[in-house]
Amino acid sequence: MRTLASRVSTLSPSTTLAITAKAKEMKESGIDIIGLGAGEPDYNTPDNILQAAYQSMLEGKTKYTPSGGLPALKDAVIEKFKKDQNLTYGRKEIMIGIGAKHVLFTLFQVILDPGDEVIIPTPYWVSYPEQVKLAGGVPVHIEATATSQFKVTAEQIANAVTSKTKAVIINSPGNPTGMIYSKEELQTIADVCLDKDIWIISDEIYEKLIYAGQKHVSIAQLSDDAKQRTLVINGVSKSHSMTGWRIGYIAGDQEVVNAMTDLASHSTSNPTTTSQYAAIEAYNGTQDTVEVMRSDFETRLDRIYPQLSKIPGFNVIKPQGAFYLLPDVSEAMAKTGFDNVDDFAEALLLKANVAVIPGSGFGSDNTIRLSYATSIDLLEEAVRRIHAFVKENW
Ligand code: PLP
Repeated sequence: MRTLASRVSTLSPSTTLAITAKAKEMKESGIDIIGLGAGEPDYNTPDNILQAAYQSMLEGKTKYTPSGGLPALKDAVIEKFKKDQNLTYGRKEIMIGIGAKHVLFTLFQVILDPGDEVIIPTPYWVSYPEQVKLAGGVPVHIEATATSQFKVTAEQIANAVTSKTKAVIINSPGNPTGMIYSKEELQTIADVCLDKDIWIISDEIYEKLIYAGQKHVSIAQLSDDAKQRTLVINGVSKSHSMTGWRIGYIAGDQEVVNAMTDLASHSTSNPTTTSQYAAIEAYNGTQDTVEVMRSDFETRLDRIYPQLSKIPGFNVIKPQGAFYLLPDVSEAMAKTGFDNVDDFAEALLLKANVAVIPGSGFGSDNTIRLSYATSIDLLEEAVRRIHAFVKENW
């Protein structure tokens, strides 16, 4: 028999990548499309990082490395945690992987047995539920809406826990919401997870993109107990504009990290060697470029948010981090004759020539996601086009 395995029968391709591909196709055929679908910073990787990568290749550092990553990169990550959060980890508590995405994939493989549940707040990053299912697990969604600032409460988590629950995912700053959990909110969540004895998977990939003078708080830094229960996921993709280099990592429980490293030794061997040297420089070199990019994102947000809010039927909460806006467009859809957000997003692409991501892919049926990882001029033009489209069809 040459049939596919049942584990991929319900697998849906990433909606983010799908709409971006369609927009690219239209653009290549000569149509003036503005793409607001991107999930990556629009800056080149900083020069010092490029140089370090090139230098490492010239020095012949182009061979296999240990499966869990170069000790020097682990040390750079350890130093980062110490400096940023005053968290202390040892090398055995860190695994470097091929981007945060694959680190998460590997994590679910080692903590989930068939039927184990993972609590995922909605709207969620597209890959969480698919990765949980691929590991035989069951995603359990709890809903956060615009009225709850797109954040779930500790009580919602407590109510969703069953004897099968293995973990909850907290993504702060969040994709697609841009929301940040306060220290107090994280504390109540940590208390519930400790009480219920479940893992806290804390995806902190947008850690460095925080606005309005706020500071990132990791749930792991709240107490020793919280740290032991938390598996922190992070990487250099968003902070250092290194999406294509594919370097992410986990910090946390030694047994989990050890199992993940063993699994990597049979699946990936190691993250790309050159990328690891680049990531060492990303953390050990100047951080000035990180701040330049962050403040540029903030300027864009401050400029574009008021304009987006003026579109009739768009209800937008101002995000506090990451580089996405997630307007609730239910009223605009109702007034312009759309009964689902996929059709609405498609119309924006075909008629207004602006590519946005429909919230359905994030488990959020009334929203669209706009990425502001593009120039202010293009952002303003895109919002003008969307505004005109809504007005014409109202
Ligand atoms: N987690 C979230 C919330 C993301 O948005 C992304 C990328 O879009 C990732 C993880 C994966 O990042 P990486 O490029 O390190 O795989």
